[in-house]
Amino acid sequence: MTETKYRTCNLCEAMCGLAIEVDGNQVVSIRPDQDDVLSHGHICPKAFALQDVNEDPDRLRLPLRKIDGDWQQVSWAEAYAYTAKRIVDIQQAGGRDALAVYAGNPSVHNTGTLLFAPVFRRLLRTKSNYSATSVDQLTHHLAALMMFGQVNLLPVPDINRTDFWLILGGNPLVSNGSMMTAPNVSGKLRAIQQRGGKVVVIDPRRTETAKKADQHLFITPGTDIWLLLALINLVFTHDAVTLGHLADKINMEQLLAVESAVAHITPAVASRETGIPGAEIEALAAAFLQANTAVCYGRLGVSAAQHGGLCQWAVVVLNLITGNLDAVGGSMFPSAPIDIAARKARQAPFKRWQSRTSGQPEAMGEVPAQTLAEDITTPGTGQIKGLVTICGNPVLSVPNGARLDAAMETLDFMVSVDIYLNETTRHADVILPPATGLEAAHFGFVFHNLAVHNTAKFSSPTIEKDPDAKFDWEIFSDLSVAVAQEQAARNGEDYTPQALPTLEDRLDMMLHASGTDLTIAALKEAPHGVDRGALVPNIGKRLLTDSGQIEVFPAIYAEGLANLAPTAPTADLLLIGRRHLRTNNSWLHNVESMVRGRNTCTAMLHPADAAAHKITDGSLIEVTSRVGSVTLPAEITADIAQGVVSIPHGWGHKKEGIRLRVAQGHAGVSINDLVDDQVFDAVSGSAVINAVPVTVALA
Ligand code: SF4
Repeated sequence: MTETKYRTCNLCEAMCGLAIEVDGNQVVSIRPDQDDVLSHGHICPKAFALQDVNEDPDRLRLPLRKIDGDWQQVSWAEAYAYTAKRIVDIQQAGGRDALAVYAGNPSVHNTGTLLFAPVFRRLLRTKSNYSATSVDQLTHHLAALMMFGQVNLLPVPDINRTDFWLILGGNPLVSNGSMMTAPNVSGKLRAIQQRGGKVVVIDPRRTETAKKADQHLFITPGTDIWLLLALINLVFTHDAVTLGHLADKINMEQLLAVESAVAHITPAVASRETGIPGAEIEALAAAFLQANTAVCYGRLGVSAAQHGGLCQWAVVVLNLITGNLDAVGGSMFPSAPIDIAARKARQAPFKRWQSRTSGQPEAMGEVPAQTLAEDITTPGTGQIKGLVTICGNPVLSVPNGARLDAAMETLDFMVSVDIYLNETTRHADVILPPATGLEAAHFGFVFHNLAVHNTAKFSSPTIEKDPDAKFDWEIFSDLSVAVAQEQAARNGEDYTPQALPTLEDRLDMMLHASGTDLTIAALKEAPHGVDRGALVPNIGKRLLTDSGQIEVFPAIYAEGLANLAPTAPTADLLLIGRRHLRTNNSWLHNVESMVRGRNTCTAMLHPADAAAHKITDGSLIEVTSRVGSVTLPAEITADIAQGVVSIPHGWGHKKEGIRLRVAQGHAGVSINDLVDDQVFDAVSGSAVINAVPVTVALA
């Protein structure tokens, strides 16, 4: 007997609604939920991978412990006890910071991990925290902190109502939206055009989004800041500053300081840096200003490149001074059922400490992930000897992954909470695999805060987990108890475990505390979600800066701008990343249906660059940077700017020590074996994963 269950897809930020037909505990089919209040029947091909991941024979379901070099299945009790003992050993011997934690991107997509891993991390009290944030989105959070007073007060483009969408370094048709929960970007883009609006894409590659846009302009990688500053300058020189309802929230002295700081960035200056003709920059500014509503959105190509910190500040400034911040059709702040930006930190979470080796700034309680390898291998006080990884594969995901791969071998102990034995977890001593995906409950705790329409939805587990399996929130609760018990025993103290709430109880408490009348019970009665309306202007009431105003020109950006220098000419090509619709960062490569067909892990090259290096389409080429070399097939295409090479991220699966049989056959190479771990954005400390200088040659 089959029945249909409804849930949210948690693979990416889009939070599409799924209608899943099950027969008992067996998934029969996955379809789009036409009645979902957010996605209205949209899904992408990855949704079907949820079933494949669930049924993947390579997926771990019970704990593994490496004993004398061999993996052995052990009980949860043994895994917890051994892990707790080794964690406390390491922190007793080397201090709290000798134990590091790395959290990968799926940490925010799994509700149990998101809410319960912090409980465990607080117990460890280590400052050696690392995550994917510093690789792909820190610059957004820093702009929110500096300008609005809270790292999570993040504006999103109101693409349901805008008349002009300017996209820099983003490919939302493939990412399905990033730092923006917007299912069916393709339909929303079409709708902008159907209502007479325009979409303009600035990117070194003619991306899938660029091909559907009204205009695409190639740009030299890493130079977006010059374009943004020129656009801001043109708003001032055209005397077109419009502050609208935010006029009394702006410090005018700061605004004048911005005007003067950008005055020398004329279209001609920006043209020399970006390669975009000055007349095109003028026309772009005019079109942005003439549109009834407009929004500028900058994503990975600008967030994680040279000057990424300045770029995200400049994006906000451009939206603000054109009257498009906190305005319908512009850049708006979602009203989530649980507002994660409601409270101000006692101390601004930036630069409270530094990474132990190269002194990079802390941000949001973490130091840049690309410093993890050097922090493991550099001897001295606080040297990292133990590591906890949570749903992450940093060997493939952080700059100079090969260095991290080698560094992990030197650790005294490593535990991974993960469902796969992959390139990272192969270095672990213990792997704790949670029940996941269709087996777990879901609430878009973070992504309701990034959604282009206000909704609320809770998904109960679609199928039951194995009786012996544990949910992620149970693992972090159990591990917290085991570590606390071990710590108490070493100190000769008594320890009485306190009952921790379940995931649903915790969510209910948070909903109650947020002042909404929503409860988990009520949300269970609304399997397609609750529509809470379009975005509304609200930043005036939510600002958490000390001044109570929007800080238009915080000191770190003023300094960054003062130090901004023209890009030095280079004979090298510039490497940029890319992603594909059927892959999801470093995983989903173990799902046959997501990777079959032509090899997409190629190095895209412009025909002129290929000819200059005698490279033909499909030939194997070696791409080399300061930190490494990879060999992969060339893909010659005029869809990429001359002087640029593009390699997709997330690939580079190893042949040894992992249990990912499909991925091993579709290994590809890791772009992060080329990305330099010694290059940081000067303002934020964020990774610079785009515009990496490389050379190419026939292999
Ligand atoms: S767009 Fe994202 S949320 Fe929607 S089905 Fe695809 S992977 Fe899932």
